[in-house]
Amino acid sequence: MTSHRRPHPKEPQILHALSDGRTNEEIARQLHVGTATAARIRAEHAYPPARPRLTPQEKFTRDTVLLPGGHMVWTGERTQDCAPVITYRGQKLSVRPIAYAMENGRPPVGNVKSACAYPWCVAPECQADAEDRQALRAKKEKEADVPDEVPTLDTARQLDEAFLRLEAC
Ligand SMILES: [Zn+2]
Repeated sequence: MTSHRRPHPKEPQILHALSDGRTNEEIARQLHVGTATAARIRAEHAYPPARPRLTPQEKFTRDTVLLPGGHMVWTGERTQDCAPVITYRGQKLSVRPIAYAMENGRPPVGNVKSACAYPWCVAPECQADAEDRQALRAKKEKEADVPDEVPTLDTARQLDEAFLRLEAC
């Protein structure tokens, strides 16, 4: 026979925090309980040990594959319409603005898109925000006779094949 313990007064909140993926330390701090209490309730309800939370930047590094030329394929989570996302503290964050901020040290203005030859590329240095694209257009107009840098057909094919092999969408 198992003895039935009276539930901890904060058990519902603790369970909620556990299902939110919080660590024992976070739960102890937020709900003013002991870490031992959080650990016990975690074990009783068979929640896995909480791993230290990865930052969005760490998740970006974990879920990208570097391709020749410095381009990157996203192999992580996507929305239903295929947009790369990172789940952080229960929220879905778009990957491109994160990549943009990693490269530029500031959040982007407007939409972020790949500015290289590969629309799927998420490499931080290949992302451009609305301001960058406007500046790029203005520069192109000024240097209208300078042709765009176009990858050779072979390189483009190799990269597209790598992309199709790696991406999950
Ligand atoms: Zn690229």
